[in-house]
Amino acid sequence: MHVCVLGGGVIGVTTAYYLARDGHRVTLLDRREGVGLEASFANGGQLSYSYVAPLAQPSILPNLPSLLLARDSALRFAPRLDCLQWRWLLAFLRACRKEVASQTTTHLLALSLYSRSLLHALVREESIDFDYKRNGKLVLFRDRQAFEQAQRQMEFQAALGCEQQALGPMACTTLEPAIEPLRTELAGGIYTPSEDVGDCHQFTVELARLAREKYGAEFVYGSQIQQLHVANGRVAAARTQQGDVEADAFVVAAGMSSVRLLDPLGVKLLLYPLKGYSLTVPLDPGHSAPGVSVTDADNKVVYAKLGERLRVAGMIDITGSPKADPRRLELLRRQARAAFPRGGDYNRAEGWSGQRPATPSGKPVLGSTPYSNLWLNTGQGALGFTLACGSARLVADSIAQRPPSLDMSPFRQA
Ligand SMILES: Cc1cc2nc3c(=O)[nH]c(=O)nc-3n(C[C@H](O)[C@H](O)[C@H](O)COP(=O)(O)OP(=O)(O)OC[C@H]3O[C@@H](n4cnc5c(N)ncnc54)[C@H](O)[C@@H]3O)c2cc1C
Repeated sequence: MHVCVLGGGVIGVTTAYYLARDGHRVTLLDRREGVGLEASFANGGQLSYSYVAPLAQPSILPNLPSLLLARDSALRFAPRLDCLQWRWLLAFLRACRKEVASQTTTHLLALSLYSRSLLHALVREESIDFDYKRNGKLVLFRDRQAFEQAQRQMEFQAALGCEQQALGPMACTTLEPAIEPLRTELAGGIYTPSEDVGDCHQFTVELARLAREKYGAEFVYGSQIQQLHVANGRVAAARTQQGDVEADAFVVAAGMSSVRLLDPLGVKLLLYPLKGYSLTVPLDPGHSAPGVSVTDADNKVVYAKLGERLRVAGMIDITGSPKADPRRLELLRRQARAAFPRGGDYNRAEGWSGQRPATPSGKPVLGSTPYSNLWLNTGQGALGFTLACGSARLVADSIAQRPPSLDMSPFRQA
């Protein structure tokens, strides 16, 4: 079968890889000059299989006013005259109910643990270099109540297959000496030994290389998809400036642009861009960057050592604007310097911002549509790198009409 994948971020490329490995003829189209240049470019690098609980939680509601109004808040909201923003927010508030949030966590955990097993198999089977490391994750809490809440979440997740431990401040420092400057402020931490890190852009580039060189997939760059052409109830072609690309099946994995491509077909996706920021800090000799992946839960900032760099990422701006705000990058730099004063050469750090394509509940949208040859793989939000392998494998299995390894019904388009 000839399958056309629309979008070459981590999600589209992983989909193309599994489809090509299955023996399909694959063509991937992307408007950029290469793969992984948008939301997948300089993300937090976390393969965060046990930290998939969605942003939409009951605990966020009482904190919303302070979170949204404080100047240096991790979460920022700018209201717009944009009905998509308000529809998304209303659905987000509905998803904050306790039973919805618990169910979402259960579904996302099943997908993330499945993704982990696939990624581990991929690393074993293929020659692929993306600064991948299993270094474990330590989530630090200054706020005692938040730490207690995290321990309750840990107990809930233990029943779902997560192995985590609660540690006091001393035990946190013994595990990761680089956090010593924070020790006196800490209430404690949750340690998850089985978490991984890697460079998402490098992963995407490497997987595209394997898909092309080993499994024969074709990658077409500079190809802006304008619309999907429908004939006889099926998608007949992806229309680009260079002409129509015909195929037997199409997978939409175009991140935020998936909404605009699908809308004329009556396939309505509720995605909103949650803007985030990152710094890539070169490590200098004698640095004391953390070897374990660290999350500062109070500031919602993650730290991952990727080869000779420290990747610092955080913030969720619900503003609708794709423009980077230099004050947010400066805030991230200040927070990183305060947490890890000798974490690297902050003066040479490269700043970046990207838009997480997010559904209100935090669950991606995977699988079939009312068009028999049109498939979706999008909406992974803050977890695209973590969920990429599982999401792609499930979609590839559906296209091949193989029974998927997980129940896909929780991820169907509403
Ligand atoms: C600051 C930040 C930190 C993050 N940290 C993590 C993390 O630590 N761990 C994790 O798991 N996730 C993380 N994420 C989330 C993750 O990066 C995203 O979920 C993921 O990159 C989304 O991938 P995607 O392929 O869906 O979208 P993208 O990477 O945006 O890919 C979409 C592709 O479609 C192409 N495209 C769009 N429209 C068209 C068109 N009309 N024609 C042709 N091509 C088109 C684009 O060029 C692009 O290449 C983070 C995100 C941000 C912003």
